[in-house]
Amino acid sequence: MAENEINLDGLDGFQFEELIAKIMKKQGFQNIRVTSKTRDLGRDIIMETPDGNIILIQCKHQQFVGRPVVQKLQGVISYEESRHPRKSISGMIVTSGSFSQDAIDYKEQIREKIGFIDGKLLRDICKELNIIIISGKIQILIDTSFNNISEDKSKSITLDKFHKIYGNEYHKPKVASNVMFFPSVYIAYNVNFDTYTQVGCIDKYSSSGRIMLDGVTGKFVTDDIKKFYCDDIQKREEIQQHDRDKKIHFEFTENDIEDDVFNYVIKNHTHDVHYREKNNVTYKKTCVPKRRDIDILEFLPIYLPIWTNDLNVNQSMKYQQKFYNKGNNQLFILDELKICHICGMKRSEYENMSLCKVCGGIVCPSHIKIDYLDKKTPVCTNHAIALRLFIQNKYFSNKENYSKYHQWWKSVKFTRQLYEDKIALGLIIAGIILTLIMVIFYII
Ligand SMILES: [Zn+2]
Ligand SMILES: [Zn+2]
Repeated sequence: MAENEINLDGLDGFQFEELIAKIMKKQGFQNIRVTSKTRDLGRDIIMETPDGNIILIQCKHQQFVGRPVVQKLQGVISYEESRHPRKSISGMIVTSGSFSQDAIDYKEQIREKIGFIDGKLLRDICKELNIIIISGKIQILIDTSFNNISEDKSKSITLDKFHKIYGNEYHKPKVASNVMFFPSVYIAYNVNFDTYTQVGCIDKYSSSGRIMLDGVTGKFVTDDIKKFYCDDIQKREEIQQHDRDKKIHFEFTENDIEDDVFNYVIKNHTHDVHYREKNNVTYKKTCVPKRRDIDILEFLPIYLPIWTNDLNVNQSMKYQQKFYNKGNNQLFILDELKICHICGMKRSEYENMSLCKVCGGIVCPSHIKIDYLDKKTPVCTNHAIALRLFIQNKYFSNKENYSKYHQWWKSVKFTRQLYEDKIALGLIIAGIILTLIMVIFYII
């Protein structure tokens, strides 16, 4: 893995604040709010420790931070303490550069609860949290996937399915199994906002949702995949060292994905409300959530294990299965073991399929014949050898069975021959019955 780095060049002050807020979130702080530039009251970020204490952060994206910055934050802490007498309030100054000796001395002297994070410490924190920043954006570099299986287990899944197919015992296929890890991001969010007009609050809106995004295209994963993984996102593990080169890299940064999520949530939770003004006229108002109304509860980049199994029945008959894995569960996205190789129709059960003894082709019930002599060998309609009796065809899996039966049939009496041809026999019986009916009708 590349050396972790934090490259803050080219960021403006506001982007720097956003970045610090994200880093603090990863450190476990809660209720992080980036106060807007215009309302800068000497603290850029307000956040809380898990036990509810408030920390005010002043961000300085500059080379040197001097004493006045510390003094200003000291004043803000005092002000906030008067507003929240029951809470413990402390401060923090974060800079991409360093603190002047004057600032450091002053901090020691006032013994205020103010922490300093300089550029060097910021880099160390990022390293510890495995954060890589390029052009001010947090890159996603993880080794976590949903619970996976071993290669042997993957092979046995395909072989178990193969063994459900009728006639499998005539072939000994080989399976090649390959895994890759596909990048995705799971996000859980809440959205809460009220909409006001002159008549007061006309709408109180509260909702939540879960999203899963494809880390390569940035689009939503299909509902099947979302349901498969999101029902229990706790089934996670570290990707084993020898499998890490099978990861497909994220094409998006955390910042990109977060932006997409905000846009999606805003669009998805915008709704119309009808309300009555004082003049008794009904109006329509479109209620639109803002970014600050959206709380991202969980942002989980994670890899999805996808197995591709190639089953070689013989040189010319090859079948592929592709499935997502989570623990002992699989979600198949391709399953050629259920597709008839003659008509291309997909069947729902492996038990519906048969395997041609001659070619190794997997076929549907419409394209399989059972050898008429041994009553068990399956053979596809392309390879079945047909023998025409009077009207009906009989099918055989090989020339020997064909000849054996043919010889026998030719050697028996006409009535026995007829008995073998169910269609001819049926027609004759039907003819007799029809004649009888006509005779009776004639007599009456
Ligand atoms: Zn078919
Ligand atoms: Zn065949």
